[in-house]
Amino acid sequence: MGAGFPGCFLWHKLAVLSLTPDIAMKQFEPVPSLYEATAKPAPSRPPLDGEREADVCVIGAGFTGLSTALFLAEAGFRVVVLEAATVGWGASGRNGGQIVNSYSRDLDSIEKQTGGDNLKLLADMAFEGSQIIRQRVGHYGIDCDLKDGGVFAALNRGQLTHLEGQERLWRRFGYTGLELLDRPAIRKRVGSERYVGGAIDHTGGHVHPLNLALGEAAALESLGGVICEHSAVIEVERGEPAVVSTADGRVTAQFVVVAGNAYLGGLMPELNAKSMPCGSQIIATEPLDEALAQRLLPDDNCVEDCNYLLDYFRLSADRRLIYGGGVVYGARDPANIKKIIGPKMLRTFPELAGVGIDFSWTGNFLLTLSRLPQLGRLDRNILYSQGCSGHGVTFTHVAGKAVALAIEGQAERFDAFASLPHYPFPGGRLLRVPFTALGAWYYGLRDRLGI
Ligand SMILES: Cc1cc2nc3c(=O)[nH]c(=O)nc-3n(C[C@H](O)[C@H](O)[C@H](O)COP(=O)(O)OP(=O)(O)OC[C@H]3O[C@@H](n4cnc5c(N)ncnc54)[C@H](O)[C@@H]3O)c2cc1C
Repeated sequence: MGAGFPGCFLWHKLAVLSLTPDIAMKQFEPVPSLYEATAKPAPSRPPLDGEREADVCVIGAGFTGLSTALFLAEAGFRVVVLEAATVGWGASGRNGGQIVNSYSRDLDSIEKQTGGDNLKLLADMAFEGSQIIRQRVGHYGIDCDLKDGGVFAALNRGQLTHLEGQERLWRRFGYTGLELLDRPAIRKRVGSERYVGGAIDHTGGHVHPLNLALGEAAALESLGGVICEHSAVIEVERGEPAVVSTADGRVTAQFVVVAGNAYLGGLMPELNAKSMPCGSQIIATEPLDEALAQRLLPDDNCVEDCNYLLDYFRLSADRRLIYGGGVVYGARDPANIKKIIGPKMLRTFPELAGVGIDFSWTGNFLLTLSRLPQLGRLDRNILYSQGCSGHGVTFTHVAGKAVALAIEGQAERFDAFASLPHYPFPGGRLLRVPFTALGAWYYGLRDRLGI
């Protein structure tokens, strides 16, 4: 169980958690992303209406919820997923699509907090998410433009030294898929003069994230799982079984999994206190001609730089450059995304001046103070996973397996994560945004100065 949970017995048993009605009634706007425009057809999934029973009720149909639900359905559990908007509407259907191994903070920081079997489990899981995604894509035939190869690009000598340390660290934990790149080698993979070197992770890569989510949803339904869209959970009545309510229905379930991440709002106040929603913005160009796309990213790898406030980019299947960056602490939507991200893209690829930007969108991820994900229990049968802090495509799949196994009665993986401390943000809800923005400004300054 994570720190910070108010453990009063009476409170445990009687608590009925309510979401403010305005969130429950909210109309979810479609996301104006390239992914929405190129999403595979999906069936309409009616809202929850009336009473249902399930072994497990999952709140949220992002990668965390879908991955958990699919593992459980594969193990024979009856699962109902309740999604406030539509499958993949949250960060999972609008992210950079980059498959990045390990966690937002690397294994050396975990090594400072834990050792022995726990450390070994956490280290093994750090490289498992990319395998789970590939296994699922292969097994269920999910059409999501999966490509191999993720580049970490160093903007200065200090960042390259850091990558050399990362390669040694990962090798020490048994992972040998990371290959260092000197300046000529990275220049062959990324057509930009900005980078002094880097590393390629051969089991990294990229996907169309919304189509991966839609494919996982279809896989779940093929195994008898149920997904109700436009079904915002407004109340979780704890107990065994627990009762999960939306405006028009109730699910009675032995277990509840909370997977609402940055979009959970006020449903679980104790999860709110130890995390902070943050926005990140992405643009996608018009389709590039083949020669230009080939000059920018000859091997079709995805790339993220090594700055604290990092830029990330890759090509889509129809040869658009998808370029993301920037963080808005507190997750307000910025007014002009093209003006924020466009200049970053041109700094990396000046030859894109004059190329049209067809799409721009924003999405929210959940930051934790330690930048490590948070798994825990709000009660014996109410489990949560949240806070991948910007690197969640792979981790959410690892989390899904850990949560599902815990429900099946094998909690070692789950407990290894749950043993990591969960810190509240300094300043509480009022001051966490300015405090964190100040910290980020400091790190951003260091990035700009190259120190
Ligand atoms: C712009 C952007 C770019 C990113 N790029 C990358 C990247 O390239 N690589 C990477 O590894 N990570 C990336 N991330 C992070 C990654 O997308 C997330 O960590 C991950 O998708 C989180 O998945 P999730 O399922 O936990 O949350 P989400 O995908 O946000 O899903 C949560 C779902 O829960 C639903 N929900 C919330 N409350 C309720 C409720 N009360 N009732 C019912 N449903 C509810 C929401 O509607 C939502 O659909 C990026 C994030 C953003 C925002």
